[in-house]
Amino acid sequence: MNSNNLDRSVSYFSMEIAIHPEMPTYAGGLGILAGDTIRSAADLQVPMVAITLLHREGYFYQTLDATDWQTEEPVHWVGKNFLTDTGVRTHVSIENRSVKLRAWKYDVVGEGGFVVQVFLLDTDLPENSDWDRKLTNRLYGGDEHYRFCQEVVLGIGGIRMLRALGYDAIHKFHMNEGHSALLTLELLDEQATSSGRPTLTLEDIEAVHAKCVFTTHTPVPAGHDQFPLDLVNRVLGRRDVYEMKEVFCCEDKLNMTFLAMNMSHYINGVAKRHGEVSRHMFARYKIDSITNGVHAATWVSQEFAELFDRYIPDWKQDNFSLRYALSISKNEVAHAHQKSKRRLLKSVNQNMNAGLDSNVFTIGFARRVAMYKRADLIFNDVEQLRRISRDIGRIQIIFSGKAHPKDIDGKKMIQQIIRTGRSLAPDVTVAFLPNYDMELAQLLTAGVDLWLNTPEPPQEASGTSGMKAALNGIPSLSILDGWWIEGCIENITGWAIGSDGVSIGQSNNHQTDADSLYAKLEQSIIPTFYNDQDCYVEIMRHAIALNGSFFNTQRMIQQYVLKAYF
Ligand SMILES: *Cc1c(COP(=O)(O)O)cnc(C)c1O
Repeated sequence: MNSNNLDRSVSYFSMEIAIHPEMPTYAGGLGILAGDTIRSAADLQVPMVAITLLHREGYFYQTLDATDWQTEEPVHWVGKNFLTDTGVRTHVSIENRSVKLRAWKYDVVGEGGFVVQVFLLDTDLPENSDWDRKLTNRLYGGDEHYRFCQEVVLGIGGIRMLRALGYDAIHKFHMNEGHSALLTLELLDEQATSSGRPTLTLEDIEAVHAKCVFTTHTPVPAGHDQFPLDLVNRVLGRRDVYEMKEVFCCEDKLNMTFLAMNMSHYINGVAKRHGEVSRHMFARYKIDSITNGVHAATWVSQEFAELFDRYIPDWKQDNFSLRYALSISKNEVAHAHQKSKRRLLKSVNQNMNAGLDSNVFTIGFARRVAMYKRADLIFNDVEQLRRISRDIGRIQIIFSGKAHPKDIDGKKMIQQIIRTGRSLAPDVTVAFLPNYDMELAQLLTAGVDLWLNTPEPPQEASGTSGMKAALNGIPSLSILDGWWIEGCIENITGWAIGSDGVSIGQSNNHQTDADSLYAKLEQSIIPTFYNDQDCYVEIMRHAIALNGSFFNTQRMIQQYVLKAYF
């Protein structure tokens, strides 16, 4: 059905992929990374094909009610406007039912015209029961039974769909997080069947092991799916493989991370520190690290794209050449930033009546709302914040982010941020933008003056929004965790909160971190912004030249190609 299915050797499996800003097929950083990875694979002509689920109702559409409480609605979107039905069907077995699957196709076209196809699996077919038809509706929705069935569709259904589509030359299966780990069971079955045996042998395991690659994305326990074995038995049926400790070690639950690690010859974390933390968590395994990146052409604002086109014409083909940003005139950098900033503030003021001022120092904070990310750290001592804004230089802050529908603490945090923000007027202007998505992220990571990140170490595996900001010349003020340990050069690319070298497992002190945050704002950042524009713009140029040139998915995918794929 397509001419390139025989030369594709790498398959990439991800529960979420941010394929297109108008397709709600992602929830957050994991999906954005998957999309950026595929876009860079297409640019560099990596022979890849990708598998995900359709997510007919997306993750959710976030609104805030009159009490500032997050409420969720299904996202309404018209898949047919973006996707074509391949006409190809396959099926998986769930609780002894045959559940039929179809695949929709999206072509990701690279800079040179090379195409990486993404196939989105969908169970909404009239042959299926009403319950089965809804299996590919809601990303990270439902209970653990629903989630496990989705993972059957992604992992087992994904392999079967690739076969049905004629992808017979694939020799690497990359699991982006553990959600797709059941693909290893399907590969084992294939291996045994092709040898004409009804049972698995150690050779089958070795053969599959040589084909699989696994990337772990979080040290936070909730990020590692586990399912009770009776649920697994019920959904998949009894299998001899459950007795094979080489495959199913190490717990009395099916832990998708262990399954993926047991069956992969290459395992990595997503930043150097995250590699260390993961080796600590999973001491029996050999775990490397490849630091995340972002897709430069997707995240550079139109204003900076025009500037780069003039000064560094091949920046899209060769992201390393962004190092030459140091030769762009400071005036032009300042001017491009001011235009991006005005575009952001105009949009927020129009939509929210926020009264943001384009001459005021603007801080951005946007990410999934999870407790360890501490979105409210900057509000730890509101009187200090008020004083700094009044006495040192005016501050305004823009927040955005969604809490998982079941995360009550996260919803309380959103409510608290909105209410505290209101109480800070008129000393500090605060806006909370609902429904954080790719488009808002593009606007925010190009339009603020400082990107703030305050996670509790060592829980931030990488973080990528600060990389988007760096590409647009926006320095970060961040806790030394994740990518920022690698990206921060104090006063050159941005600023660090807290002391260096937080050792693994050490809990952090909110008060100390908040004090350090205020001190950096008061003593370095705000005085530089208002009194020494030349110096601030010099830091902006370094953010692009040192961090934009490195923390991109072009460099990242080259490392995957060398270390994991070929
Ligand atoms: C980049 C991005 C994220 C991830 O940002 P982090 O800094 O890794 O938290 C999440 N959601 C959206 C919409 C993004 O664009």
